[in-house]
Amino acid sequence: MASSLTFLGAAGEVTGSCYLFDIGKVKFLVDCGMFQGGRDGQRKNRRFRFDAREIAFVLLSHAHIDHSGLLPRLAAQGFQGPVYATAATAELLAVMLPDSAHLQEKEASWERSEPLYTVARARACLGQLRMVEYGVPFQPDPAVRCVFRDAGHILGSAIIEMFLKEGKVVFSGDLGQPGRPIVEGPTLVAEADVLLVESTYGDRNHKSLVQTLDEFAFALNDTLASKRGNVVIPSFAVGRTQEILYYIAELRGQGRIPPADVYVDSPMASAATRITRRYAKLPDLERLRFTDSLEDSMRINSVRSGAIIISASGMCEGGRIRHHLRYNISRDALLGWIGQFRRAPRQTYVVHGEPLAAESLKNSVIDGYGWRAAVPSAGERAVL
Ligand SMILES: [Zn+2]
Repeated sequence: MASSLTFLGAAGEVTGSCYLFDIGKVKFLVDCGMFQGGRDGQRKNRRFRFDAREIAFVLLSHAHIDHSGLLPRLAAQGFQGPVYATAATAELLAVMLPDSAHLQEKEASWERSEPLYTVARARACLGQLRMVEYGVPFQPDPAVRCVFRDAGHILGSAIIEMFLKEGKVVFSGDLGQPGRPIVEGPTLVAEADVLLVESTYGDRNHKSLVQTLDEFAFALNDTLASKRGNVVIPSFAVGRTQEILYYIAELRGQGRIPPADVYVDSPMASAATRITRRYAKLPDLERLRFTDSLEDSMRINSVRSGAIIISASGMCEGGRIRHHLRYNISRDALLGWIGQFRRAPRQTYVVHGEPLAAESLKNSVIDGYGWRAAVPSAGERAVL
């Protein structure tokens, strides 16, 4: 039978990233993400469309739950192979998967149902992680050679290059906007026979960074100095929180905002910030406080004014809410990344985007570059 690729998630949507490669003797997954959003998502999370015991290994692009969140369930259903990820991704998963499991257990107890997976299961599956480095080839199977490249999206995020007998397959993962702090811009890839490219913002551009920072500085000044209140910034624990800390330090260093106590109000965001500090340079911020417990968090309620509170608790933990809000690469930068391929891939699949964004990007790739491109539907199987 011809080798194939099945689009199990993130096809016409932005969550549940999961691709099944069946290349004859071996089956493997790229990502094993959780579907997020409503009953439909919950239903899709319960049932894999393949036998977990047949999966030889998993290649993981990054730690966000919509790319990694079903790993404990995969292991619970009999997957025993290695999961390849960068060291930073592995460290983040050690915080995020048990946190996600905790949320699953809590919800299941409310609904009197079985949790998707337990904290114990999430911890156990961390033992299957195998660390790989950017740019260093490795061979999870005699028929598969891989290289991870920096995707510039969050700490540890990777573009995955796979060399198979059918040719070179490149999975972009989530790409980061070039020119952001903490992470490098996405690595340029020159060649692919088959390309899977994300399209979260396939139809939109972002405001300029200068404009965004000006607005941020204005809002901080207005609330802290003029109105004498606290600024509460809802944020995602991993990636976004660290970026906000970076910009607060920068604005403070430039004297553009008054001195203020800064609270990271979420145990997960606190843990993720500590991990980030080990891998990347975060500027020092005086009067920075972390909350590691519910009690710490309660104490913030008594602060009446003059504080900046980055709140990643509740809604953002366990990844119930999509992290994508203006976080992935913009349309123009994405077309720039695609435009540096030296030759057209045999086939391009536009994935990981709502239908309008994915269609828009697909049309630009066809019209602008003359490539063959398609938006696969969920469950679609393509011959490699
Ligand atoms: Zn992501």
